[in-house]
Amino acid sequence: MDTGLSQTKLRENVFVWTLGGDRIETSYGANCTAVIGRQAVLLVDPLIAPAHARLVENALSAVTPLPVRFVVLTHHHTDHALGAAWFGSRGATVVAHRACQEAMAAEHPALIRSRRRIPGLAELFADAKPCLPSLDFEEGVLTLDLGGCVARVVHPGPGHTAGDSVVHLEEESVTICGDLVSAGYHVNYEDAAIESLETGLAVLRDLQTRSYVPGHGAVGGRHLLDDQLEYHRAAAGARGSDSSRPRHPLHARFPGYLLEEVIGS
Ligand SMILES: [Zn+2]
Repeated sequence: MDTGLSQTKLRENVFVWTLGGDRIETSYGANCTAVIGRQAVLLVDPLIAPAHARLVENALSAVTPLPVRFVVLTHHHTDHALGAAWFGSRGATVVAHRACQEAMAAEHPALIRSRRRIPGLAELFADAKPCLPSLDFEEGVLTLDLGGCVARVVHPGPGHTAGDSVVHLEEESVTICGDLVSAGYHVNYEDAAIESLETGLAVLRDLQTRSYVPGHGAVGGRHLLDDQLEYHRAAAGARGSDSSRPRHPLHARFPGYLLEEVIGS
């Protein structure tokens, strides 16, 4: 079955799917990750709309008959979060940090309405619904047991957004980073706590996993954290540059990076 998704089998029980590219019609290339336990499945960031969430559901059914019990949102940006309503309506518990929930409630209804008014996007967002997560946390670590597999949901502090979460799989040696890490994509800083971004990367580094799943782009090792740090420092140096110019320093420094539309952020 061709779902249009490209699949990375990261471990026997961990899969990453993406539609690639950097357009809204492909969820801006966001990554959705499935963690499969003996009794249940946890999904992280089920893309931008129910239609894309259903592609994930189809791809998942090819690798396990188990139901999705948990959906964890790494942050409120729609390319990661709006697909959650689909799995929520089918009985999954949607998990997000308190600040993520607040941003979803404040921003998503208007964003969905405005996208439905754009002819080219109306169909993709036709059945999109704001989703109110049913499980939230603020401090500390939330532990979710999938049967023979444990996922730890960690708030590394404000970073890409105020309500960031990352998912740590100790046994599998995998960290699912959300947009605290992007690989080959420019970074959207519009909701970022700029001064805390390096701290967030240090938290990820301390987890010392073999693999890191970025919010966008290919899975990699610890070098993804080094690359992201270099990007943040270059972006700090370039702040105030005219983002409409093709010779913006970030274009020159990171040629070929996708998602150029966020450079102005
Ligand atoms: Zn984001």
